[in-house]
Amino acid sequence: MFNAPAPGLIFRRLAVASALTLIASCAEAPAQKPATAPLPQASQPAAKAATSPAQAPVVMPAISFDAWRDGFRRQALASGIDTATFDRAFAGITPDASVITADRSQPEFTRPVWEYLEGAISPYRVRKGQSLMAEHATTLAAIEQRFGVDREPLVAIWGMESSFGQFMGDKSVIRSLATLAYEGRRPEFAHAQLLAALQILQHGDIQPGGMLGSWAGAMGQTQFIPTTYNSHAVDFDGDGRRDIWNSAADALASAAHYLQASGWRKGQPAALQVQLPQGFDYAHADGDIRKSVGQWQATGVLLVGPQANGLSGESASLLLPAGYRGPAFLVLDNFRAILKYNNSSSYALAVSLLGERFDGGGQLIGSWPRDERPLSRSERVELQESLTAAGYDPGTPDGIIGANTRKAIRGYQQRLGWPADGFPTQKLLESLRQR
Ligand code: CA
Repeated sequence: MFNAPAPGLIFRRLAVASALTLIASCAEAPAQKPATAPLPQASQPAAKAATSPAQAPVVMPAISFDAWRDGFRRQALASGIDTATFDRAFAGITPDASVITADRSQPEFTRPVWEYLEGAISPYRVRKGQSLMAEHATTLAAIEQRFGVDREPLVAIWGMESSFGQFMGDKSVIRSLATLAYEGRRPEFAHAQLLAALQILQHGDIQPGGMLGSWAGAMGQTQFIPTTYNSHAVDFDGDGRRDIWNSAADALASAAHYLQASGWRKGQPAALQVQLPQGFDYAHADGDIRKSVGQWQATGVLLVGPQANGLSGESASLLLPAGYRGPAFLVLDNFRAILKYNNSSSYALAVSLLGERFDGGGQLIGSWPRDERPLSRSERVELQESLTAAGYDPGTPDGIIGANTRKAIRGYQQRLGWPADGFPTQKLLESLRQR
């Protein structure tokens, strides 16, 4: 996780502070997480908090990096960081141009959600996760007992975040965050993370040379951002250090602690596959609409998986990751807990399905609309501008399909008499172009 949610795990969650997006549109796939930072193979950092270059020209810092560092040093010392810690952490640190490149990139094209899921739930990852669940069975049992978080989603998150500790990022966290604090798009956020990183070094959990992570400062096997680390990392192997880089036990327990704080409910699924009846009103597939599982069933929603028993009183929303033509899911409280780790419904669905796959489940019912090509970023902007021209209010045309844009899409779909799933498609954009 890179963004800490309210608790502060990860960047993604808190920092971005975006509304929970339950309908994963292609455009939404990976937002910057709250507790953690996105890995390249798992997700592309969505420029969620960013504006386009055209709207916000890059402003170069008015002072040199050295001058910035000296000013930051004074602030850090005033906040309780000791001189030795600061100077050791910053020895030889210069800005990292690759971090700035990554920070300013706004990918034009997005993978369809089915391709994202296929990458996330690869046969290799399933086998590796199963093997590691056996290897760490004792530790996982102890973690389940202490934190009340099931082992399957924990190991799934471990696989999603760092490929089970194999890819944690190889950048100096201090250097990356210093670069972002100096000239990134969100300097205040990076500033806070950098201070938190110095606190971690001062606490002695890791040495500066071992404090490695992603370009965005997501660290270790859990990809925690520093503030999330400070609030939720735990020493579970008992060596006195919270070492999410080198200790699988510490990493898994830290992730469990975060999910516990996010409201995890042991033994409950995160998502249930469902089939929708003929004539279903797809406008109900909205993250803001919650009903009990039993109420959904009363509207004709059919639970098709093996985990449906005893859940009729649980609160759920309907998720259509690829619109009405694709698979449908009821997502429960644990899905929302995963979103606090990484605020992307595609991510949360991948964690849920991967965890089920470890136990032999997680097979999808229904098929993806593979003939759909996700809208590019510029097409999403055009869609938003066209909806505005048509009298709807999709919000700022930023290429991000959020709640306002989905609402506007639904309105236009209803005017056309189409299924109002709020999902952006080429067909919808074409219809707007021909108005
Ligand atoms: Ca430890």
